[in-house]
Amino acid sequence: MEIRTRFAPSPTGSLHIGSLRTAAYAYTLAKHNGGQFILRIEDTDQKREVAGSREKIMELLTLFGMPWDELYIQSERVKTGVYQKAANALLSSGHAFFCQCPPRNSKTASEKVLRDPCRDKNFTSGAIKLRVPDNEKIEFHDYVLNTDIHWDTNEVADITLLKTDGFPTYHLAVVVDDSEMKISHALRAAEWLPSTPVHLLTYRYLNLIPPQIGHLTVVLDPEGGKLSKRKSTVSVDRFIADGYLPEALLNFIILLGWAPKDNRELFTLDEFVTAFDPNGFQKSNPVFHIEKLDWFNGEYIRQLSVEQLNSLFIVHCSLFSSLNPKKQIAITKLVQDRIVKLSDFNPLAGFLFERPKVDISLFGNLDYKEHLKSAVEVLSLVNPWTNENIQEKLMGLIKEKGWKTGDFFMSFRIALSGSKFTPPITNCAEILGKEETISRFEAVL
Ligand code: GLU
Repeated sequence: MEIRTRFAPSPTGSLHIGSLRTAAYAYTLAKHNGGQFILRIEDTDQKREVAGSREKIMELLTLFGMPWDELYIQSERVKTGVYQKAANALLSSGHAFFCQCPPRNSKTASEKVLRDPCRDKNFTSGAIKLRVPDNEKIEFHDYVLNTDIHWDTNEVADITLLKTDGFPTYHLAVVVDDSEMKISHALRAAEWLPSTPVHLLTYRYLNLIPPQIGHLTVVLDPEGGKLSKRKSTVSVDRFIADGYLPEALLNFIILLGWAPKDNRELFTLDEFVTAFDPNGFQKSNPVFHIEKLDWFNGEYIRQLSVEQLNSLFIVHCSLFSSLNPKKQIAITKLVQDRIVKLSDFNPLAGFLFERPKVDISLFGNLDYKEHLKSAVEVLSLVNPWTNENIQEKLMGLIKEKGWKTGDFFMSFRIALSGSKFTPPITNCAEILGKEETISRFEAVL
């Protein structure tokens, strides 16, 4: 059997980190088996569509290195009549009926009124709903959770399949499309599990064979409950804008709900494709710990070559990009071990390409004027201007004056950077150059 998986996002806003995880698992499952990965844009609920989000989804899948082999847009498929045809077939076999109630806004099968008041009224127009049978057991084996799940149809509602505007609901479209597109494995969010009996009945009544269906665990917020935008960052775009590398983000989410047999943590997408094993899907809901993501991001930043990281800083920061390349590389080398994400670059190293405003109160009780005056004197004698020479002269000065090393360098650091936290400060002075260093001290004095 050819393995064909799909990622079926609705273009209703920015891509949620959980959806990226669904895409990554679907992509990996297909590619591990030499199969096809399909992108299907589920835009049949046109009221909820957000302009531009379809393009954004494609852009992000590309950024994360998950190209799709086939692309389908459901709103375009509506015009071909496939969904109408399926709904008509269900009507003719008596498994669906017309309903003239005003539409309810229910997405799942757990609607309060299970048996629709219109189901025996023999209307000849309206929305088309599934006639759910009484007293039947529906069962399936969940591919991800690796367990049998069953329902009694007495708990399942007559759900809308085709709306009066001619658009299918998710429930009809997913059945028709997964079947027509020969999807072998449908991986999706746990929120869809209550709808699965409706889909299984629809497959049965249309004489179609369902794919293997698997529901992914729910990503939890450390504060409790589902990870949601009310409490945390959840949009993939936001993480990228915050300076997380796609490789790190992907690695992190892959391990939110899947684990290898050994304790390995670092996986590129290709390595994950090779290592993938469905038995690695975890049953318990994972917690999204941002500290862990930070750890991954730091690891990936360290793995980049200086040149690669430098190009990322250039994209990330326009002021930095205007420096001469030698200086850029020196700065990049200095911060590579010290940042967690790209957005840490400016706060940490911005003073190396933009003169900071120095808040005098930062000096506190330090004898900073004395420190800086003497520093200017000895620094003007440093030649050539290298880190070693700068250090040697300053250490000599500290010894001669009997100052505390930490105090002196704190004055030095604040005067040069406007901050108490910097990369090694004499390296910074070396990069800034003699003239600029002395001139910053004079400005403070
Ligand atoms: N359009 C659905 C969603 O975005 C897809 C669910 C599925 O993968 O079947 O949640």
